[in-house]
Amino acid sequence: MTELACPCLSGEQYPQCCQPLHDGLPSQTAEGLMRSRYSAFVLGKIDYLLDTLAPEQRQQIHREQLQETITQTHWLGLQVLDSSLDANDEATVEFVAWYQDTPMGQLHERSRFCKIEQRWFYLDGVMLKPIKPERNSPCFCGSGQKFKRCHGR
Ligand SMILES: [Zn+2]
Ligand SMILES: [Zn+2]
Repeated sequence: MTELACPCLSGEQYPQCCQPLHDGLPSQTAEGLMRSRYSAFVLGKIDYLLDTLAPEQRQQIHREQLQETITQTHWLGLQVLDSSLDANDEATVEFVAWYQDTPMGQLHERSRFCKIEQRWFYLDGVMLKPIKPERNSPCFCGSGQKFKRCHGR
């Protein structure tokens, strides 16, 4: 992984991936927004995380909570498992975000997104059961190693 590799592990470099969204460009897709929110968690971009919340969510999620999550969580990688456009302005993305724990934890979530005036926003999500990583698949951390030789050891 190079220095500029995007934290969302798309394989793209940050300036070609999540950075333009962090700088204000609207995301074309809900999945893109989801990825850029993950990257914002990794990079500690709280304003972006707040700005991309659906208006009805803004009262529920507070800066302090986000700050706490950001300081306490060391993210290891992101896997987008599924994404679907449910209507013109509604989409669902299922993903697993991995983080450091003993030895690792995961947030497996199905998130809902809504589109308002050409911009996607995070609406809410439901937590799903943890997935079992396949031992012979590439590790979620983007190392290029098989899981069993990397974080699965
Ligand atoms: Zn990215
Ligand atoms: Zn790994």
